[in-house]
Amino acid sequence: MAEDYLLTQYAVTDLAAITRGRGAWGTEDEGLKSSVGWVPINQVISPFDGIPASNPWGSHGDCRLRPDSDSLVDVALEGGPRLRFALCDITDLAGDEAGVCARSFLRRMIEALGARGLRIMASFEQEFWLRLPGAPTATPGFSLQRAIGHEPFGSSLMALLERAAISPEMLLAEFAPEQFELTLAPAFGLAAADRAVVSRELTRAAARHAGGHASFAPTRAPGGIGSGVHVHLSLWDMDGKPVLHDPDGPGGLSAIGQAFSAGVVRHMAALCALTASSVISYERLQPHRWSSAYTCMGDRNREAALRICPIVSTSATPPASQFNVEYRAADATANPYLVLGGLIAAGLNGIAENLDAPPLINTDPSEMAQADLDALGIKRLPQSLDEALDRLEADDVLCSALGAPLVEAYLLAKRHEARECAEMTLDSTYAAYAEIY
Ligand code: GLU
Ligand code: MG
Repeated sequence: MAEDYLLTQYAVTDLAAITRGRGAWGTEDEGLKSSVGWVPINQVISPFDGIPASNPWGSHGDCRLRPDSDSLVDVALEGGPRLRFALCDITDLAGDEAGVCARSFLRRMIEALGARGLRIMASFEQEFWLRLPGAPTATPGFSLQRAIGHEPFGSSLMALLERAAISPEMLLAEFAPEQFELTLAPAFGLAAADRAVVSRELTRAAARHAGGHASFAPTRAPGGIGSGVHVHLSLWDMDGKPVLHDPDGPGGLSAIGQAFSAGVVRHMAALCALTASSVISYERLQPHRWSSAYTCMGDRNREAALRICPIVSTSATPPASQFNVEYRAADATANPYLVLGGLIAAGLNGIAENLDAPPLINTDPSEMAQADLDALGIKRLPQSLDEALDRLEADDVLCSALGAPLVEAYLLAKRHEARECAEMTLDSTYAAYAEIY
């Protein structure tokens, strides 16, 4: 009977972090399809729906979207429609990994980490801009006025995320006008990146349903405060024991934690291409914004791109299980699978070379003397998308982890996006990113 039928979206997050897909009609009892058709060139469409002129596919070729049933979201908006979608991997027609699949890249990095007896736990802490009809706009940072002024939206968003089984933890009024922050419980591996994707889609859908707009754009105007994505990371062994922490290590890092962190710091400039992946991302990565602007690690320092988070001694959770580091040079124009996969690749390089802890910088690096920065090997993060892409292209470790097809597609798509922005006015560039993300 037609009323048993429903539309299930098969979705994939592309290289520009836009989740695209197609809907298939069927009954719930039929379960998910094993795969649906997809077009290779779709992975390199820019956020503005531009297609790079000379690309390897053109009109040719076919691939498949293979849903991961663990990722199925099936929720109804309060007083609104039912939303049903599954996150997919891209495969070729034989079901093997197609080279431009970010989610498959993260799977490969998780396997490589597993080969060293390690698992990664992560949580994406996401800031965003929220406009709702009737809600106050000129409210102070962190204020109760703003938080309760957005009720019942806040509570109903959190309930929606809970129903989607992505374990929301906190929703808070952030510093800038209209800014909020959403935190989710940490999860192992793929699930952590999936949660980032699902939470963004549901936040946007809930805001739209309430007649408003939520945007995860990294900045809204030149010189403005940024909305970041901070990725909290910890390492665990295969028996479920946390292994990042050693109370006697520098900053509380174990030997493996030091090596992993040093790998991340070593590759940070190139990583930015994957984690701060839009033209306006670099307006956010400026000193004095708590967004991070230098290739360094700090102990509880919000100007450090890699920050050791505090241990709460009054918590019931043991210190080693709480302990995590936070990568701050990311935003929501970046594909979460590339972000986490890139961090693992960089960290694994540090582990393979058994690197020592990076120097811990506990002041604002922009206020340090250049000679001191030089002595410690600390550099400014890239200051444009093009610069970051050049750094990525020159980084053999990250490029070989990504694999040639993914690197080629990424550089092509992102350089095209940079060119598109160069042809737009600054105002329309910001407006477009705010609208799209
Ligand atoms: N809004 C800052 C950023 O762009 C982060 C502020 C905070 O520490 O939460 O990353
Ligand atoms: Mg914040």
